[in-house]
Amino acid sequence: MSVYNSLDSITEELHKCMKCGNCMAVCPIYKETRQEVAVARGKISLVEYLLSGEIEMTEGMADRFSLCTTCMACNTNCPCGVRFDKIILAARAEAVRKKGLHAVKKIAFTALKMQRVFDFGMKAGSIFQGVALKNIPDRHSKLARMRVDIGIGKEKVFPMLSKKTLRSELPEVITVKNPKMRVGFFTGCMINYFYTDIGRAVVEVLTENDIEVVIPRFQACCGIPASVNGDVGSARTLAKRNLRAFERMGADALVVACSSGGTAWKHVFGELLENDPELKALADKWAKKSYDISEFLIHQVPFKKEGLGRVARKVTYHDPCHLNRGQGINQEPREILKSIPGVELIEMKEPGRCCGMAGSFSLVHPDLSVQISDHKTSDITQTHTDTVATGCPACRLQLQSGVENAGVDEEVLHTIQILAESYRVGKKELERSK
Ligand code: SF4
Ligand code: SF4
Repeated sequence: MSVYNSLDSITEELHKCMKCGNCMAVCPIYKETRQEVAVARGKISLVEYLLSGEIEMTEGMADRFSLCTTCMACNTNCPCGVRFDKIILAARAEAVRKKGLHAVKKIAFTALKMQRVFDFGMKAGSIFQGVALKNIPDRHSKLARMRVDIGIGKEKVFPMLSKKTLRSELPEVITVKNPKMRVGFFTGCMINYFYTDIGRAVVEVLTENDIEVVIPRFQACCGIPASVNGDVGSARTLAKRNLRAFERMGADALVVACSSGGTAWKHVFGELLENDPELKALADKWAKKSYDISEFLIHQVPFKKEGLGRVARKVTYHDPCHLNRGQGINQEPREILKSIPGVELIEMKEPGRCCGMAGSFSLVHPDLSVQISDHKTSDITQTHTDTVATGCPACRLQLQSGVENAGVDEEVLHTIQILAESYRVGKKELERSK
């Protein structure tokens, strides 16, 4: 039974918990708040009381379930193998079934489902963003802060909306001579609207490796913001739209450069569509051929080492929770970085510690999100590097905000951008040598 359908689906997981409290040692929220309700054990008890009928779901209870970054650190530190990620998803879906969705989230997720309206809104936003956002002089990227505090953190640093979305900037099919294979690129929202530089780097690296790239124009949001907030209906609609968009264009494999998007294609779509045999089969088919870009370049089509130019960077790597613990991908980005001539990889103290972004968590709990982020920034600062690499655009945003506010001169990039830079330098070196 899917965790999205019923609270009963997690009874077995709840029974596994022996209340040992090992999860306290790793929970980023518990570390800041020292409250039992913040940690997995506390929330497990709440769900047990709910299931036994001793208490009822209230809005206050739904707020407590929002106190989780879904970082999965408790999963890995649990001696009983409790899948707390399943428990929290089921609890939040139950909260929405019983108490409804917060009005702001309802508007946001409805907009995500209306692709053309959403695109229009983002386009208008890119034109008028200067009204709400104040540009920050930064030598690395176009960043900004809110002019007025609207309750999501006055000091939060945001990337500016791109004037042109990635999907309108690039053709739907990018051909190469003698293609090795045809790969679909799921851009996700952050890369499509904000970090188009990551998207261009993905395309650059794939075409450099003789791969034809397909970017279906009518792909949608991965739906993770909706599913982790308990809006199962919206998440299902988006999952269906994505599956149909990629099925229509066809591809030998699908790549993602965002940890939420990868999780959606590999693990979430199938579970959301469990009750529809036809769509479930389609979701399972695409799950088997979905890869994070670093995983794809290491295991599926090993990337060309010849042609890589020297990139003089001291790099530290931050593991996004949903790529590391969610998909087991942590060595692949490091292998890529180590292959780039000139890159020196220096590990930070706890590269797998959550950065505190967690999508809407950072908007709902801005102060807590910054407190968690401060530890990450401190770990980064101690490496004395000049670049932070990561595998997720949402983490990039949080890391950029952290280093910017700490006044640390670090460029924050997706791993694939450093690889693309190396190919670019390699081409220039070749031209100069002719
Ligand atoms: S570590 Fe696992 S078994 Fe122990 S309290 Fe936390 S969830 Fe329960
Ligand atoms: S998923 Fe992360 S934030 Fe949530 S309870 Fe577990 S350790 Fe804490």
